[in-house]
Amino acid sequence: MKAEKLKDYKLNGKGAVSGDLPQYAGVHSTVFNPKYTFSNFVVGESNKKAYEAAKGVCKNPGTLYNPLLIHGGVGLGKTHILGSIANEYVNANAIVDVMFISCEIFTDDVIHSIRQKTLKTLENKYNALSMFLIDDVHFISNSEQTQEVFINIFHYFYERKKQIVLTSDKPPESLGNITESLKRCFKLGFLAEVLPPSMETKVSILQKKAELENIELSDDVVYFLASSLGSNIRELEGSLLKLSAHANFTGNSIDLEITKKLLKDLIMIKPDVVDIESILHVICQHFGIGINDISSTKRTKDVLLPRQLAMYILKRLTSLSFEEIGLQFGKDHSTVIYSCNQVERKLKDNEFLSKTIDKLMNKITKL
Ligand code: ADP
Ligand code: MG
Repeated sequence: MKAEKLKDYKLNGKGAVSGDLPQYAGVHSTVFNPKYTFSNFVVGESNKKAYEAAKGVCKNPGTLYNPLLIHGGVGLGKTHILGSIANEYVNANAIVDVMFISCEIFTDDVIHSIRQKTLKTLENKYNALSMFLIDDVHFISNSEQTQEVFINIFHYFYERKKQIVLTSDKPPESLGNITESLKRCFKLGFLAEVLPPSMETKVSILQKKAELENIELSDDVVYFLASSLGSNIRELEGSLLKLSAHANFTGNSIDLEITKKLLKDLIMIKPDVVDIESILHVICQHFGIGINDISSTKRTKDVLLPRQLAMYILKRLTSLSFEEIGLQFGKDHSTVIYSCNQVERKLKDNEFLSKTIDKLMNKITKL
């Protein structure tokens, strides 16, 4: 169904297609959920590969990345990327015969058709699409017949260079309950893993969400949330909404204290088992510099890195705010934030630094 036909159908306020649409045109879908867009998606090292492949799919469907399988843990943005492909592709090309469907609904559809003996009609319905996006394929029924139907549709798309995108919680070889033939299909294409976000990406996601939802958050709160909560982004969002609801209800702003109180069930607040002096002592000893140097205004190379690491480690191991950490070094909170971000950035491609930090933190926590 191409652009000229689109005018026959109305887009409702949320972008969802309404009207007398054929059954397959996004009816079961979250395609048109406006929340899932590339512009709302924060790109970091952890999801860059999947993001770029997804953009590639929109630009040149059915070519380089076909099929595209995005895999990774819960709450890491797979459905968001899948929805973004749908939204971008449909909007750019004014095409509505794109199906975005959860694998559970697909399975139900197949089981229903098997019972009704209408399998051929079902296959024709899916085969007629221009793009097929299927979410959470690990939920496909372990019935061989259901998987067979999926394989038929898959081959139909693959041979005609029509785009298929799949998501799953594991890479194909680790998927249980899935026949070898179906695994072979999944492996035919481009695999992109989404990994847990780094601290820096979590901070950017929280800032973006806060901006989108009009929630005012201090850097301290953002950093605290990013370092105390896990990597499930849905949980980060949930915490943010809880804070925002509280702020709206009470009219008070969100500070570190209220954040800790409201989210106490979700976060593991680290007790400050070690004092600042001891932490600094371990770091200075490791780098062979004096405690006075690390807290001085000296900007020579031999003290700059240890000072940045000290700020980073203090933030990781204590519940001190940026401001409080800054006081130890005669710096303001923005210098501490900058230092923590610098360390995060360096950690990405510096294995030696990452090992050094692990070693130091191990030593400190054993004090
Ligand atoms: P998954 O499908 O991997 O379980 P989702 O795509 O449902 O995860 O993501 C969970 C929530 O986190 C969604 O609300 C999504 O919008 C949001 N989210 C995930 N990754 C990002 C990101 N990189 N930038 C912005 N929001 C994200
Ligand atoms: Mg999902």
